[in-house]
Amino acid sequence: MKRIHTLAVIVIAACIVVGGYNMDRALTRNAMDAQTINIAGAQRMLSQRIAALTLLYHRADPESSERYFKALKGAHARMLEGHQYLTQATGQSLAPAQSTQKLATLYSPTGRDLDRRVRRFLESTQAFLGVEQADLRAVPMPNFTDLDFLLADLDKAVSLYEANAKAKILAAERLLKQTILLALIVLFLVAVFVFRPMAKQASGALEESESELKKRSDLLSRAFDIAGMGYWLNRTDRPNELWISEELARLYKTNPVGQWLTLDQVKSLVQDQNNELLSKAARVSRATGTPQYVETRLRRGDGSFIEISTSIAAELDETGEVELITGVVRDITADVEARRAVEERSNDLKEAQELGNTAVWRFPIGARSLELNEDAYRLMRYDFSKMSDYKESADERTDKGTHLSRMCLGDSFEDLKRMSAQVFKTGQSGEVTIMMRRGDGTVADLSVRIKLQRDDEGKPIGFFGTMQDVSEQKEAERQLEQLAYYDHLTGLSNRALCMRQLKKLCNNQPGDGQDAALVLIDLDNFKEINDGLGHQAGDEFLCEIGRRLSHLAGPKNLVARLGGDEFALIIRDARSVDRVTSLVSSMLAAVAAPLQLDSAELVGGASAGICFIPSDTTSASEALRFADLALYDAKERGRNRFAFFNSDMSDRLQSRLSLSRDLRLAIANDELETHFQPIVSGKDGRVIGFETLMRWQHAERGWISPSEFIPIAESSHLIGDIGQFALKDACQHAVAMSEVTGEPIEVAVNVSAAQLWHGDVEQMIANALSASGVDPSLLCIELTESVFVGDSMDRVAAFLRRLKARGVQLALDDFGTGYSSLGYLNSLPFDKLKIDRSFVAGVDVSQKRFQVLEGVVGLARGLGMKVVAEGVETAAELAAIQSLDCDFVQGFFFGRPEGQSQALAAIERINGQAQDNAAAHLRQQVEQLEAVSRTALKGKTAAAS
Ligand code: C2E
Ligand code: CA
Ligand code: CA
Repeated sequence: MKRIHTLAVIVIAACIVVGGYNMDRALTRNAMDAQTINIAGAQRMLSQRIAALTLLYHRADPESSERYFKALKGAHARMLEGHQYLTQATGQSLAPAQSTQKLATLYSPTGRDLDRRVRRFLESTQAFLGVEQADLRAVPMPNFTDLDFLLADLDKAVSLYEANAKAKILAAERLLKQTILLALIVLFLVAVFVFRPMAKQASGALEESESELKKRSDLLSRAFDIAGMGYWLNRTDRPNELWISEELARLYKTNPVGQWLTLDQVKSLVQDQNNELLSKAARVSRATGTPQYVETRLRRGDGSFIEISTSIAAELDETGEVELITGVVRDITADVEARRAVEERSNDLKEAQELGNTAVWRFPIGARSLELNEDAYRLMRYDFSKMSDYKESADERTDKGTHLSRMCLGDSFEDLKRMSAQVFKTGQSGEVTIMMRRGDGTVADLSVRIKLQRDDEGKPIGFFGTMQDVSEQKEAERQLEQLAYYDHLTGLSNRALCMRQLKKLCNNQPGDGQDAALVLIDLDNFKEINDGLGHQAGDEFLCEIGRRLSHLAGPKNLVARLGGDEFALIIRDARSVDRVTSLVSSMLAAVAAPLQLDSAELVGGASAGICFIPSDTTSASEALRFADLALYDAKERGRNRFAFFNSDMSDRLQSRLSLSRDLRLAIANDELETHFQPIVSGKDGRVIGFETLMRWQHAERGWISPSEFIPIAESSHLIGDIGQFALKDACQHAVAMSEVTGEPIEVAVNVSAAQLWHGDVEQMIANALSASGVDPSLLCIELTESVFVGDSMDRVAAFLRRLKARGVQLALDDFGTGYSSLGYLNSLPFDKLKIDRSFVAGVDVSQKRFQVLEGVVGLARGLGMKVVAEGVETAAELAAIQSLDCDFVQGFFFGRPEGQSQALAAIERINGQAQDNAAAHLRQQVEQLEAVSRTALKGKTAAAS
């Protein structure tokens, strides 16, 4: 059978191949012949053209001859090409190698003649063309006498060829018809001898496929088993019976399979726990003809339980009546368990939501109120039952929008609206943390997630999202922030927060107008309080100052403690210099107001520096520096003041900085020198001692006045070193000069307030005394009233008493220039009062000044102090002062501050002068006495005679 089959196929294939080959050959030849005909025709035309062109060229004028020559060459080349094609094998598909041979037969009997003729024609043209163009005219025109024969031969060849080609196509067509006929015959034979036996075989295959089908149904049955499925049938004509499929029986774990059982029998085998449900579904399906689906629980034959689903479908007969009910049963135990797990998990989730304080909300566009779920009400501690009552009332519902705004605290409602707008615009979800008042009145921090809700077409229809109570987290953050941004002592903002606010302020400044100000406030005497009364008092003092400052600053401005005794004030709405001036003045006054502590009464003082933002700067760090410069300036000009920043300040600071650097070096290199100004007794005009005054010769700037460098030394903590040097040097000189003169020479040393606050002056004095071995009573310490600024009176008094106990003299310097509160003088152990030069100058010419000075001297006397008149420059001033009976006099009149040797010379000079004066005085007195006695003697003599 198979062999016949193969044979038939081979025969048909052979027919197709033969037919196809012949058809192809015929067509190929036809195409090839057509090509040859074309070329032969072209040759004919070309030969005519060449002949004509040659003639034209020969006769042409020089201008056009060039053109003809070119055309002639082209035509010749093409004809040569065509001839070569026709006579030689070119290897092209349409000109196989037999061309020459074919031409020979084709041209026959004249074929060879034609070839020769074409050749000759071409040769003569070639010869004509080969001549140099210039000589061409000299060459006779080729003889084309046999051109007519050539053309006739070509014509003949073409028509012969045409006829031949036609004959060949006809032959090919014939062959094609024969081939098709042959193929048809073969097909018939194949049908008779091959397909008939095959049809017979097909019935055998059917049997085979039945067994295949059986196999497949077994497979299906196994698949049923694997899927945990089975089915039953119930026919309308046998309503109380069920046909249980094998798989279902296996699922039921019962024995009898594949047969009709009565419903009771089935019930005895398996117990469906929801039997009612199942039979109801079957009834419905039967009655309505629609499929039903039920899930029930089943006790199987072996007693185990499974969950099953039954899909019940009714099959109708042609009349539309229900004929059969099928139930496809599936074991869905795993599904149900999984579903239960999911449910449990979602309950867990719900619980977790409650624990995580998360709730859901919705806000349809156009609605006026927020829809909250039950969790949300619980979260917000509202009574849900009451709130659902609210829902019923239209009034309350419309009120809820405003209700929400009332529940939100601070900027929360605005934040919420802003974020919703953003979500709407971008379509992306957003998150915002807001503060809301809960139902019980407490405040909650809520993290609200907002998403856009869209309909099926993607059109936004509202918002929805979650809300989470993050109060605890926020509280922790707040505490952290409190730690990071607030001063633990005063509760004010700290430096970090101050800087942050300042930066924010600077960034927001548009660039003109005096909109904000930074004020740096520095307490003048905090160190004394801290050192003198202890840290407890210091802390209380700082807290109180903080309270006073923030009270005055108000809620809009920020008061910060930057550290130590430094405070800052950011005035957000500074508006004008006057406004800032009045605020800062009131703050300084508040700091200076006495503070009563258990231990003592404190009187503070502060200085302030102010800079404006943005008119001075828009950089936070620069603002800080500028305010600091202004503060520095304020302190310089005396305490308890404030100063506005100006651009000179930084230049001044620069030069001060460089000077303080130089001063440090000068101290290290012993470039400082003590000079001595004599102090003279008002009684006998003799030198009782000197005031030591510091001198600094700067390498570039020459002599620098102590009025310039002492303040720098004070602010850069160099005053301690200078003071130590001054004390030591003075004591040594006192000893030396006393030795040289043989009389006690006192020295007065200036000690400034800064020295009392920074550094142990008492110890320095003790060291200087013991190192020199000088009699302590020869050392006089000069202090100005500035040491009593603020509250430190008690401390200074104690200090002075301790010095006094060491036997040192004390002088109050520059009296009359400072605080002029004389009350304290009574309680302080000053020995001398140095009346400032401003009282002395012009005392000889102004009656008024004389009276003032007289008053001051009288006061000092009343207080039991000796009086030193400073700055006496003229003899007249001296005379006036002497008439007031001053104890000591000092001034340029006696001598300027000078080095040690000049000082010694000054003693000699002044004392000599005093001696002379005294001698003159004595002489004068003697003369007066003599005159008196002479007069008296004269009188006596006169009386006697
Ligand atoms: P002071 O203690 O009031 O010193 C007196 C100042 O008056 C000295 O200026 C002195 O040269 C000047 N003087 C004295 N007699 C006359 C006079 O007849 N006419 C005028 N026009 N001036 C006179 P000096 O030396 O420039 O010192 C200035 C200030 O520097 C001193 O004022 C003192 O407060 C301070 N000082 C100088 N040396 C020291 C020092 O070693 N330690 C401290 N803490 N301060 C010093
Ligand atoms: Ca002095
Ligand atoms: Ca003085």
